[in-house]
Amino acid sequence: FNGAHLQLARLFVAQVATAVRNMQLYMRLNQAERQQKTVNRISRLMAEEAALDTVLTCVVEEAVKLVDARFGTVLLLDSDQELVIRALYGHSSPPVGFHVRRDVGQAGYVADTGEFSVVTDYDHWELSNPAMQNALPAGSILYGVPLSYRGRVVGVLQVVGIQQPTTNIDEIEEMLMAVALPASIAIVNAELHEILKQDQQQLQAILDYTSAAVAVFGPDGSILLLNPEACRVLERLNIPAAGIEGRRLVDLLAEILPGEAFDLADIGSVVEINLGEIGEYLVHIAPIVLTGGTVYRYVAVGQDVSELRRLDRMKSDLIHILSHDLRNPLGLARGSIDLLDEPDLPQDQRGQLKEMIVSSLERMDQLIRDVVDLEMAQSLGEETALPYLLPTTVQKVIKRNELKANQQNVELVYQEYNVPPDKLKGHILLISQAIDNLVNNAIKYTPAGGHVQVTLDVEDEYAVIRVVDTGYGIPAEHLPHLFRQFYRVNDKRTRHIQGTGLGLSLVRAIAEAHGGRVSVESQVDVGSTFSLYLPVESARPSQTGEGQLKRYDLAEQVGKRLGTQ
Ligand code: ADP
Repeated sequence: FNGAHLQLARLFVAQVATAVRNMQLYMRLNQAERQQKTVNRISRLMAEEAALDTVLTCVVEEAVKLVDARFGTVLLLDSDQELVIRALYGHSSPPVGFHVRRDVGQAGYVADTGEFSVVTDYDHWELSNPAMQNALPAGSILYGVPLSYRGRVVGVLQVVGIQQPTTNIDEIEEMLMAVALPASIAIVNAELHEILKQDQQQLQAILDYTSAAVAVFGPDGSILLLNPEACRVLERLNIPAAGIEGRRLVDLLAEILPGEAFDLADIGSVVEINLGEIGEYLVHIAPIVLTGGTVYRYVAVGQDVSELRRLDRMKSDLIHILSHDLRNPLGLARGSIDLLDEPDLPQDQRGQLKEMIVSSLERMDQLIRDVVDLEMAQSLGEETALPYLLPTTVQKVIKRNELKANQQNVELVYQEYNVPPDKLKGHILLISQAIDNLVNNAIKYTPAGGHVQVTLDVEDEYAVIRVVDTGYGIPAEHLPHLFRQFYRVNDKRTRHIQGTGLGLSLVRAIAEAHGGRVSVESQVDVGSTFSLYLPVESARPSQTGEGQLKRYDLAEQVGKRLGTQ
């Protein structure tokens, strides 16, 4: 060899070295490109919001192909921190859903340490799972990749190859870790999605089952959401809830209450809305404010406070009775008793005083009986109802009122058109009390010379007791309130007639407690007709059974627990 040959050889070696380097570079580039393509494929699936299982199946398949392995598995940590197989590629056992031990095996090890692991001789590995020993093909190499997000391990990607890899372990780790990242994000996303879904379901259940009406508005007051109770309130107002979204609250309020001008800015955080028969609502309005301070939405929660208000009114009425209606006759009786002691009092005046005392006591007695009867009628149960003959009951009431009608020079007649075929079921004392109240009122509110006609008939499924009088009649504006407790018509023609304002509310309570109803028609100076409907069959809904309200009185137990009993 001469120098020229040597130089040629050097040149050749240098060229071969360059070619090898180029080859290596090419292979690395090729590998990086494959890795990038794999990550892209997984990312695309995620962007398309594919199901988590689809993403994970793609992840394990791509990971296996990327490192030229045989098969692979994705295991996730469930809420109990147990490892569960979620996706497979290249094998089918153990299957998806299988719980893998955490205390032994590679997946458990990776989940615990959060570190990449390679096991080349599984059967002799100190942490190997005895159930897996001999199950793996000879020469298996196991790669365990942690799937973690912000330092929290959410699962493990396990890939198993057979031959010694041509690529070095660091590169394999790099490739698998690149695939693991989008997989971890997909898992965390799915977790968040699930939490959001559960929160949403919880919120939905609250909105669906709360007795409050809930509405959500945009910052301009347009309606965005109404819960079922809010829809029911609107429907009772004859405003169909369908298609209401997007409409402005002020326009809606203007529709409900025409003639009133509404401005969102004027509506305070607590508003009282009285919807008449539909209910009285206390509405709390709260803004939902974004971090920057801008109002994003408004939430309005309306609570029906009609019952509370009714009880409140009842309480005031009862105080009124005690302070006025009971005190007056009491004072009158007391004064009369004092006067009776006067020795020089003429006999006829003594008689008048005695009458005054008796009438005062009767008034107080009537008042107390009405209040007690009302309470009883409202708390009646079906268990105590007994069969009774309605015609006999009505006849007895007529008999009882004949004397009074005579005294007032009012003609009282009774006629039976049809009678119920069987006995009715109910509380006879209360039923006769209800009929008595109607007959008594008719006589009371009919001037001398008038007529009261009572009839018994059967219409459809109801026995109907109709009390028709030719009395003062009731002005139309009072008719809707007539059956309310303590309601009395303020009319100069009837002001002199004594009463408690409880009689008709008692009739209604008794009728409803028996599955019936009461109605009124009246014309001023012509007369009134009150009709009491009682079901012929025991049409009253049973108090127990599915879907019925159950009451639990736990006051005593709670008292005991708190040591106050
Ligand atoms: P009261 O004890 O005042 O009679 P009610 O509840 O029985 O109480 O009746 C309520 C009001 O309805 C009465 O105050 C009266 O003004 C009116 N009313 C009831 N029945 C008649 C009737 N038959 N004719 C005219 N007005 C009546």
